Amino acid sequence: MPDDRRPSRHTQAVWAGEQRAFQDRATQVPVVHSVSFGYDDVDDWRAVAVGEAEGHIYGRNTNPTVQVFEEKLRVLEGAEAATSFATGMAAISDTLLALLSPGDRVVSVKDTYGGTTRVLSHHLQRFGVNVTLCDTLDHAAIERAIDDGLSLLYLESPTSPTCKVLDLERLARRATASGAIVVVDNTFATPINQHPLELGADLVVHSATKYLGGHADALGGVLAGRAELVERVFRYREVDGAALHPEAAYLLLRGMKTLGLRVERQNASAMRIARHLREHPAVASVYYPGLEEHPNFDVAARQMPGGFGGMLAFELRGGFAAVERVLPRLRYAHRAANLGAVETVVAPPRTGSHVELTAAERAALGIPEALVRYSCGIEDVHDLIDDLDQALAEGDGAEPRMAD
Ligand SMILES: *Cc1c(COP(=O)(O)O)cnc(C)c1O
Repeated sequence: MPDDRRPSRHTQAVWAGEQRAFQDRATQVPVVHSVSFGYDDVDDWRAVAVGEAEGHIYGRNTNPTVQVFEEKLRVLEGAEAATSFATGMAAISDTLLALLSPGDRVVSVKDTYGGTTRVLSHHLQRFGVNVTLCDTLDHAAIERAIDDGLSLLYLESPTSPTCKVLDLERLARRATASGAIVVVDNTFATPINQHPLELGADLVVHSATKYLGGHADALGGVLAGRAELVERVFRYREVDGAALHPEAAYLLLRGMKTLGLRVERQNASAMRIARHLREHPAVASVYYPGLEEHPNFDVAARQMPGGFGGMLAFELRGGFAAVERVLPRLRYAHRAANLGAVETVVAPPRTGSHVELTAAERAALGIPEALVRYSCGIEDVHDLIDDLDQALAEGDGAEPRMAD
């Protein structure tokens, strides 16, 4: 085996950023709560402050625990640099606010994460940034919008909740030819399944709250990519103050050790469940990039070498009443807004992520009223399928029993 073979991302998720000595020979990353870092020698202090020497000054800028988390993600995404944020939305809004100026134009799609859509369609416009949101599945329309001139192309794939897939390489190439910055939200795919920087993106953002942490117990966000761009966003984040807390950084680091195992399992389970539900009489349709009938299956198969992800959605027959009947019966699922956790999580977009839209607006996004978004956990897939089957069965059903 050649020495320069790149280690697997599964190995990097465990070791990246941690192949060094920590204080007192700790093998696990210390959680450094200290807000400030003291220097006896003012020349040393100055050298750190101006970036001539390694070190930390103040927790809003940098922190040793947070730095290890950034380094792990930087390595996993194969990026020049990475910086972190208090939440995924802080990563996304800081990136847009730091890189855009009045008169700039952003091209994106209608199916971005709800908070992102809000920043794009409302807040950026207040600062005189023009935003064009294209139909997510219309690549020709996105290319026309790119050709009209832009400063930044913002993409997300697969999307929530209907798992639409964008051809990242094709769109990144087109936008790069126009000199635009290309940003991709890689939250749903994770660095295990999809590598946007290799497909031509300049920057990758994540809500670390989801798969990276994986345990639904810490909020966080991260940006990775070209050093010059990450530095510009970092300089803004330093003063806007959306710093990742060291305790959250530790929980995210701990979660990321099992990222490869979790995502591998979730990929396999989502595929099994998607195939099972496709044949189920109570289910009208299934949305999963790994099904051959998915409108962009070919693109997904090419650009997601690790797997098709742990997120799927299905439409129940019988309208929203069926959703109201089936969801409470699930024994192995939280009914909650989160996703990407070790536990299975379900949510109906109609009363969850897309509750603020009208039925007509949801329909325009291709979101049926009886849709259920399903985030596969790491439970045994047979138990998940049995659970779905009993919940979908005809009749009133017994009260949900807590499982043994
Ligand atoms: C959750 C999510 C976000 C926002 O992340 P927070 O950590 O909740 O701020 C952004 N993009 C996607 C795709 C998400 O699922």
